[in-house]
Amino acid sequence: MASETWQCRACDSGEVFQFLDLKEMPVTNRYPTKEDVEAFHRGEKKEHKYPLRVGMCGNCSMVQLSDFVPYAEYIVPDETGRTNYAFFSSQSTTMQAHFAQFAETIKRRFLNKGEGVAEIGGNDGIMLRAFDRSKYRVLNIEPSSNVAEISRSKGIETIESLFTPKLAMELLHSHGEFKVVSCANVLLNIHDINGVFEGARIMLSNNGVFITQDPYWPSVLKDTGFDQFYEEHPWCFSLKPLEHLAESHGMELFDAQLFPAIHGGSMRAYFSKKGAYEKTKRCSDYQRREQWANTPEACNNFASRVEKSKKNLLSILNNIKSQGKRIIGYAAASKGTVILNYCGIGAETLDYVVDSTPTKQGRYIPGVRIPIVSPEEFYREIERGNAPHYALLGARNYAKEIQEKEKEFVRGGGRFIVALPKPRIL
Ligand SMILES: [Zn+2]
Repeated sequence: MASETWQCRACDSGEVFQFLDLKEMPVTNRYPTKEDVEAFHRGEKKEHKYPLRVGMCGNCSMVQLSDFVPYAEYIVPDETGRTNYAFFSSQSTTMQAHFAQFAETIKRRFLNKGEGVAEIGGNDGIMLRAFDRSKYRVLNIEPSSNVAEISRSKGIETIESLFTPKLAMELLHSHGEFKVVSCANVLLNIHDINGVFEGARIMLSNNGVFITQDPYWPSVLKDTGFDQFYEEHPWCFSLKPLEHLAESHGMELFDAQLFPAIHGGSMRAYFSKKGAYEKTKRCSDYQRREQWANTPEACNNFASRVEKSKKNLLSILNNIKSQGKRIIGYAAASKGTVILNYCGIGAETLDYVVDSTPTKQGRYIPGVRIPIVSPEEFYREIERGNAPHYALLGARNYAKEIQEKEKEFVRGGGRFIVALPKPRIL
């Protein structure tokens, strides 16, 4: 086990111990073109990679990457200078229902008529549109141009910006105090999380509430979910480090709720200024139950399971190849790219990766350089009776839906393979 330590980006102590080394990793959402790949082969161009190492702080227990990739490496503006975000929250019906319920909870528990609710990274307004704008003050702070535009078109006041303490101060002056500031699946993307807590405190009224929701470290642990770690996710939270962080900004944790079905386990955490709310019993219960996850033993155990998982996946794939059968990848996504690169699975194993996103088609999986093709090409192979025998899934959360969707492939004898939580043929 590597004994390297580094400085905690949450609490500043020098006590982060490394427990997992996923080696050199490319930026997972930059799909090289054919020209790029040829230039890589000729040695004229180098694919940018960074060390993907994961550690836990010995002081505050925050799980974090050793190297934070600068935003500019993976949030690339288009030719008009706009930054676009490819994931529209409202496209997923599961997420729509989840956020509608979230909005109801906020209204019922905290929000009175005339009070304000602000969301950091509110995407296309999936949650905020559930608030009646004639009753409440509603504000979306969203840095990505394309989704900010949709949010605005829904009648939601939207500020196109990153969230910083400076912006929070300006908003306090221009908009007054807010009763609720929320951020869902956003905190784990932000490098300066101290700035987010500081900014939230500035904007909140004395009995205001700051709510975060992100993938939960104990859930990631249970699932051997190492594909959770890549440039866009430099953090993984449990309640302990979040509470520590809040306290260093004059706030406290007072409630929490786990959603096991969202992103494999998503924890909502509620913070307020000191003394405004009493800590709930369920919050204390979660904190007691998560203690095991905040230990070096749990981390080291995770790391050995990750290694074992790699060995098992490779043995499944090698076994199939030795029978002369064909395997493809299904869906080009960041998580899949992490798995393929860490396991060293390239074009010698997967003939291609099929993906329905037009901007990815004709390009290659970063690092391992497997060509990405459209579903039509995949279907043509099936029609011609030349279907691949196996398809390795890049998105483990949707295995059932995908099996249902690709009935033709399955009917012809095609089988899907999942890499996590345990590598297996479905
Ligand atoms: Zn720390």
